[in-house]
Amino acid sequence: MAAPVTIVWFRDDLRLSDHPALSAAVAQGGPVVPVFILDDRADRAWARGGASRWWLHHSLTSLANRLAEKGARLILRRGDPSAVMPALVAETGAERIHWTRGYSAAARALDEAVRDAVTGLGEGGGDNAGGVTCKRYAGRLIFEPEEITTGSGTPYKVFTPFWRACTAKLGGVSTVEAPASILAPTSWPESEALDDWALLPRNLDWSDGFTPLWSPGEDGAQSRLQSFLDGPVKNYGTARDKPAIDGTSRLSPHLHFGEISPRQVLLATRHADAASGGDGEKFLAEIGWREFSHHLLFHWPKIPDAPFRPEYAAFPWQDDAEALRRWQHGQTGYPIVDAGMRQLYQTGWMHNRVRMIVASFLIKHLRIDWVEGEKWFWDCLVDADLASNSAGWQWVAGSGTDASPYFRIFNPMSQGEKFDPEGAYVRRFVPELAKLPKSAIHAPWTADSRVLKDAGVTLGETYPKPMVDHAEARKKALEGYEVVKAANG
Ligand code: FAD
Repeated sequence: MAAPVTIVWFRDDLRLSDHPALSAAVAQGGPVVPVFILDDRADRAWARGGASRWWLHHSLTSLANRLAEKGARLILRRGDPSAVMPALVAETGAERIHWTRGYSAAARALDEAVRDAVTGLGEGGGDNAGGVTCKRYAGRLIFEPEEITTGSGTPYKVFTPFWRACTAKLGGVSTVEAPASILAPTSWPESEALDDWALLPRNLDWSDGFTPLWSPGEDGAQSRLQSFLDGPVKNYGTARDKPAIDGTSRLSPHLHFGEISPRQVLLATRHADAASGGDGEKFLAEIGWREFSHHLLFHWPKIPDAPFRPEYAAFPWQDDAEALRRWQHGQTGYPIVDAGMRQLYQTGWMHNRVRMIVASFLIKHLRIDWVEGEKWFWDCLVDADLASNSAGWQWVAGSGTDASPYFRIFNPMSQGEKFDPEGAYVRRFVPELAKLPKSAIHAPWTADSRVLKDAGVTLGETYPKPMVDHAEARKKALEGYEVVKAANG
């Protein structure tokens, strides 16, 4: 008797190598039908943002090509996966469905809904009712959230002991090869056309800046990792905080879309580091933050929407649409903040140091709810990731598990001087200030009129005056945190 058909449901795991769900399906010996379902229902919370949709379009193109090389096709369908999957089962006669598990509340609910939809026809429920077996595999993280717990079996809330517990187990990590070939079914189900999904932005000018920078897909991810390990990783510890330098890996969108697994990154980094004696372990600790963020999201599923420390809900946020708009468009009058916000919009990415500075500015200088910033990042980042984005915002707000203390209010001028000492980053993204000397680049309003004139800068005309006074804003933020303290009793 011929081996049964297995559907492999791709989600944010758009690769063929180190893909346990795919490898297990191929190893069974029967035909495999790879499927991607676009869940575009308008009422979904945290539906993919614009920059992520751009990435997804290109990543799916790449995945389809990779599958074609192995003899398979990527079947595209749109809709609620719990409605689409039973139809696909009926069309293909599949007896098994494999997929990589997700960690957010929505992903987990969907896991259950799909399983119920395809097994519910049979008696009894469970993972193997009604003739269809559903199997969920690990694949997005180095360790599953259930694997790393404190001595008393509870989840970690602090990064350092969490990562120490992970590090002790890293030696046992391995990966699986991409299948050499994939057996095709006797006939393929219909696929929708990717172009009909209109994932690319209607305003194509927006993504013009993305194209030269990024190569979505598994090959792009592997070559990005390789070029990072060939050079920048050696000085990662010092260069990683300098936004003007290409000192970090820029693997974040590739990791988010699962074009490369963190296990692959781990093993390749350790291998390269053994040869070069670079800063690989420091780099891996950042992969550790990604891991930690996912563990937090798994154990505290509400962190994208509400402060982890509930007393922070009492902070007196300002409802100021115009201030939010100026922040979003890089028109605050603080050069390092504006450079970051413009880098985000133009390239779909922002340097980590600057993410912290702009987030602190929104929360503490403008006193606008961090969820507004989180939403803007969500729409504009090619690496928008529910776990890392919410953890990042809560960390800066002070409301997270292992957060920056609330009284740590970044001074945008001194942050600029320290991390962009020559002003090269500001000059690149705020070209109207490019001719200012470095002594004035992070605080143009302190320059004398001659310096401004020579640089062609007229404050309030060619570049905004600071929208808030730093010392005044700092005082008001600290007053706001007094309200939080009072709410905590
Ligand atoms: P590298 O320095 O090369 O680090 C390697 C990898 O480690 C990254 O690709 C990423 O997967 C992970 N990583 C690094 N720093 C962090 C961190 N602080 N938290 C979690 N993972 C980390 N990262 C996202 O991937 N998606 C987001 O939506 C996101 N939103 C953020 C929002 C705020 C307010 C802040 C402060 C940080 C956010 N980060 C987010 C984390 C971090 O800024 C990015 O992961 C990093 O800048 C990506 O660049 P890179 O790949 O060159 O990083």
